[in-house]
Amino acid sequence: KPIVIIVIGMAGSGKTTLMQRLVSHVQSSKKRGYVLNLDPAVMSLPFTANIDIRDTVNYKNVMKEYNLGPNGGILTSLNLFATKFDEVVGLVEARAENLDYVLVDTPGQIEIFTWSASGAIVVEAFASCFPTVVCYVVDTPRSVNPVTFMSNMLYACGILYKTRLPLLLAFNKVDVAKHQFALEWMEDFEAFQSAVEGDQSYSSSLSRSLCLVLDEFYKNLRSAGVSAVSGEGIVDFFNQVDKSADEYMESYWPDLEKRK
Ligand code: GDP
Ligand code: MG
Repeated sequence: KPIVIIVIGMAGSGKTTLMQRLVSHVQSSKKRGYVLNLDPAVMSLPFTANIDIRDTVNYKNVMKEYNLGPNGGILTSLNLFATKFDEVVGLVEARAENLDYVLVDTPGQIEIFTWSASGAIVVEAFASCFPTVVCYVVDTPRSVNPVTFMSNMLYACGILYKTRLPLLLAFNKVDVAKHQFALEWMEDFEAFQSAVEGDQSYSSSLSRSLCLVLDEFYKNLRSAGVSAVSGEGIVDFFNQVDKSADEYMESYWPDLEKRK
């Protein structure tokens, strides 16, 4: 069975660029990939998608028709598409024997996917058929700021608890800033606390308290430092994906069988 990788992350974290890198790595390593674009508002895709939401719904028409702004248009487009998602999974299932990876790009604005019924439908539809891994993309240069780092970790934590799927943190843009600091902060909460030391703001003191709580969450995560632009770290990324898929088969799959 193919492994499904759902790429999620803050706007501008580099999801689409990372998708392009993953697609080209899958091709060059002679693996078989199936590619989905679920961002109705992307102008041009830097990779070829087997299924593109833009072929089914035109989000600008949806905006006009339902009198919505851009975010409402994207959300409604995704909702319309989600109503047919069983057909999409059917298409993937028909090809499953001949696939190694299914790569899924999601809308630029993270909340449209993570806080909508349609995002949950998409995730559950895949996770009930295939080993599915959530890849949470982090903008590493921006996360050098401890409060931004903490916001990202809380978001990732929320996704882990909502989906219950194996979560892989992709620290992207390591060509600009190495992710070593992030690994240190995750490993040793005192290192994080000393990074926010001296900052008396409310958000810093909140971050200090939260890092104690997140300690347990970090233990359940895998991570990889990558550069979507240079390709650095992509081999290790796929090793982590494969390990995450094993984890899915060990813990998520038996649970699913029980629920059936
Ligand atoms: P998305 O909104 O998450 O899909 O983000 P995009 O893939 O559109 O990327 C947002 C911006 O980050 C673009 O200007 C990309 O060129 C840039 N970017 C993405 N990945 C990397 C990377 O690994 N290194 C650098 N330096 N820039 C990147
Ligand atoms: Mg994008």
